[in-house]
Amino acid sequence: MKATKGSVVTVQYTLKDAAGEILESSVGDEPLQYLHGFDEIAEGLEKVLEGAEKGFKTTAHLKAAEAFGERDEELVIEVPRGDLPEDIEEGEEIWSDDEEGEPAAFTVVKLTEESALLDGNHPYAGKDLTFEVEVLDVRAATEEELEHGHVHADGDEECED
Ligand code: ZN
Repeated sequence: MKATKGSVVTVQYTLKDAAGEILESSVGDEPLQYLHGFDEIAEGLEKVLEGAEKGFKTTAHLKAAEAFGERDEELVIEVPRGDLPEDIEEGEEIWSDDEEGEPAAFTVVKLTEESALLDGNHPYAGKDLTFEVEVLDVRAATEEELEHGHVHADGDEECED
């Protein structure tokens, strides 16, 4: 079957930056399963995989805007050091509230005695990326998966979302 909105797609992927450096890869690890059409993966990659079937293999070069978006410098914020756990280190990711009070992921960029500099951009924002991707399987999502908007691993009945 073809990947379309409401399909659960299993892919093996390798993600590289513009210099060809591998940023992450599922090869040698668990393949990625995602729910197609639910904004779970980069927009440009989803477009490339639209209509793809098992065995489909491609290399997609995506501009930052179609991958994880451009950087937004307004998402870089400074907070009092005391707002963060004591044992946190630079480079770690934390969850905090964004301007609208919604939980959002921030990377700790810099720590001083008094303050912490946090970056709310996706770590790959502003980067042109290359995805090498191979479709291992496409199946229809269950009703529950569609309701939840994410994939349930086989036999996973513990989901409480
Ligand atoms: Zn669920």
